[in-house]
Amino acid sequence: MIIVHRFHIEPTKEQEQKLFRTLTLCRWLYNAALEQKEICYRQRGRSPSCMQQKNELPTLKKELPEYKQVNAQVMQDCLRRLDNAFQRLFSGLAGYPHYKDRDHYRSFTYPQADKQDQFKKPGYIYLPKIGYIKMNAHFAFDPLKVSRVNVKYHNGKWYVNLTSEIAEAEAVEIVNKIGIDVGLLTFAALSDGTKIDNRKYFRKSEKKLARLQRRLSRKKKGSNNRRKAKTKVTWLHDKIANQRKDFLHKASYGIVKKYDLIAVEDLSVKNMIKNHHLSKSIADAGWGKFVNYLEYKCLKYGKTFVKIPPRGTSQTCVCGAHVPKDLSVRVHKCPECGLIADRDIVSAMVILQRAS
Ligand SMILES: [Zn+2]
Repeated sequence: MIIVHRFHIEPTKEQEQKLFRTLTLCRWLYNAALEQKEICYRQRGRSPSCMQQKNELPTLKKELPEYKQVNAQVMQDCLRRLDNAFQRLFSGLAGYPHYKDRDHYRSFTYPQADKQDQFKKPGYIYLPKIGYIKMNAHFAFDPLKVSRVNVKYHNGKWYVNLTSEIAEAEAVEIVNKIGIDVGLLTFAALSDGTKIDNRKYFRKSEKKLARLQRRLSRKKKGSNNRRKAKTKVTWLHDKIANQRKDFLHKASYGIVKKYDLIAVEDLSVKNMIKNHHLSKSIADAGWGKFVNYLEYKCLKYGKTFVKIPPRGTSQTCVCGAHVPKDLSVRVHKCPECGLIADRDIVSAMVILQRAS
């Protein structure tokens, strides 16, 4: 199972110059390789393969010594990226590869991480040809499992995406089971009677965002102050996105640690967004990510993950009776068995029942 951790890195001024230089040289290489393919195709009816282009890299370094500033594997990865773009074209997944301008070439990759040395210095990541860069790893990861390092520039900040291969654990015996219902009023309701609320978690940041957006709207178009205000809004958006991820990781980890079987509805969140006016809340809630996180954590810890078809779980009682209610009715009252409980908790119980 492949997972990716994204961490913020803080290069020094000098390191940042090297990072930008690497991005530029990689982009030039990408565009030159694309051009070479096109010229050869026009002249000879066939273009050089990725391997043939890789074999030319040592000559290129001799002729253009500035490429000595770029790690050899990073350069090879540029060519692999171009090759992938053509593979996607040939399999009908994408259009013809574009020449990249500065805004569309924002990352480079070390395809084989040096597990021993890359994370030797605590709090830092070593990037060959760049140096030790301060890294904020906000949760624990196993350096020996990291197989690939991608360096990305996004909204004025630098990040690394660390790809790790995690072994799937052997299935543990199922003792404790839980059903989970995701909803708009409560982020998630659990069949054990607990509820996970995400709104209060983001309230502070969202208030701040509203304030910054009001301030931005008062600034004159094209002014320096407007640009500054806009940067602040973008950064806060990023921060909120990270807070969400953090929240989803913690919430899913807590559940997977405690329970051995986890049942959720197979919601296609995308379809819901298309069909409902509640699209904003649904997109913001991040259920799709939450379910993903639950699933891979289950694989990682040997827990059983069950997705059940979503039909009618909110209109059914655990006794099997049909109990219709619209969204405004928050309490489930069953005329058959007399069960009175929170509607979302009852849905979670029904979900668990269907999975067992
Ligand atoms: Zn009932």
